[in-house]
Amino acid sequence: MTARIACAEINLAALRHNFSLVRHHAARSRIMCVIKANAYGHGMLQVAETLSEADGFAVACVDEAITLRQNGIEKPITIFQGFADEAELAACSEYSLWPLLHCDAQLKLLQVTKKRRPAGIWLKLSSGMNRLGFACEQAQLLWQGLIKLEGIQSVGLMTHMACADEGSAKNPVTDFTLKQIDRFMQNTQQLAGEKSLANSATLLSWPQAQADWVRPGIMLYGASPFLPGITHNCVNELKPVMRLTSRLIAINQLRKGNPIGYGCSWHCPEDMPVGVVAIGYGDGYPRHIDAHASVSINNQCAAVVGRVSMDLLTIDLRNIAAAVGDQVVLWGPELPVDDIARSAETIAYELTCGIYGRVQYRYID
Ligand SMILES: *Cc1c(COP(=O)(O)O)cnc(C)c1O
Repeated sequence: MTARIACAEINLAALRHNFSLVRHHAARSRIMCVIKANAYGHGMLQVAETLSEADGFAVACVDEAITLRQNGIEKPITIFQGFADEAELAACSEYSLWPLLHCDAQLKLLQVTKKRRPAGIWLKLSSGMNRLGFACEQAQLLWQGLIKLEGIQSVGLMTHMACADEGSAKNPVTDFTLKQIDRFMQNTQQLAGEKSLANSATLLSWPQAQADWVRPGIMLYGASPFLPGITHNCVNELKPVMRLTSRLIAINQLRKGNPIGYGCSWHCPEDMPVGVVAIGYGDGYPRHIDAHASVSINNQCAAVVGRVSMDLLTIDLRNIAAAVGDQVVLWGPELPVDDIARSAETIAYELTCGIYGRVQYRYID
């Protein structure tokens, strides 16, 4: 069988290394590894199997959790959006899942159901993000009502930070995160439920928010959870897990003034070789990038020139040793995905999540 030459190589040893960094930085907390959206594009099942030391996993929806269960993953699985209807509620108890409860409609379903209730649930509280969750001030009343429902054995308390990527406890840009932590703690400290506040950025920068469970996602995959310009010692120790590669399939000797690609948006400033790489936005490489975007070829850095098209992109091969057939790295250990994300005015999360089905996956260890 033939396959597209665009390839996402997933380094499972790097994944385990990043997990051990989470353990090191949040030594007193249990770790639920966030593997929603196909583990940020890295392959949900392979990632779950590799992270055998995780204390649990978290996904966005019930479907993702069922896939994990049907493939033999037995650890606790938290569902960030909880159940959408009666059938999903029933699936939560059938598959021993831990759904979040974030709104009145879910609460009602849980109260009136005639079926067995899930043994573990999380009460989602909004401490400032104002996306999903009940107001923190409702925590006590809701928690006490939930823990009394027949069949429910544990009710955890969860919140999510809106601005943790912007700074740190040592170097705060805003006091918003601290306010969120305080508001959550004040309203839940007297409750016996397990608490969870921290995604990757929060667990690194606000250790006081690590609590019973931390919820790292992006740092497991080796990308920075912080905005450009914000650093943390740990970020330099992370190892990129995904290497996105393809191959050079043509080299054209073009003349000064020749345009390249759709819209003729770029013209050769001199006679020069231009390489054509078999990857494009139809594979998940971003179409909108600035003039700083580059690829790595034979350990040299080559600028992307002209518009990225669906299946191809073009690179400046002046002063670069390259031949047709050579491997081209779009991002990976030699070219941080965070750099490409910055060129595309987005974040690494969106790039790795956006790898499309025709890209071949290869797992290495
Ligand atoms: C996605 C998600 C996380 C993981 O966030 P990272 O920034 O990738 O560490 C944690 N908690 C919730 C509620 C999420 O939705």
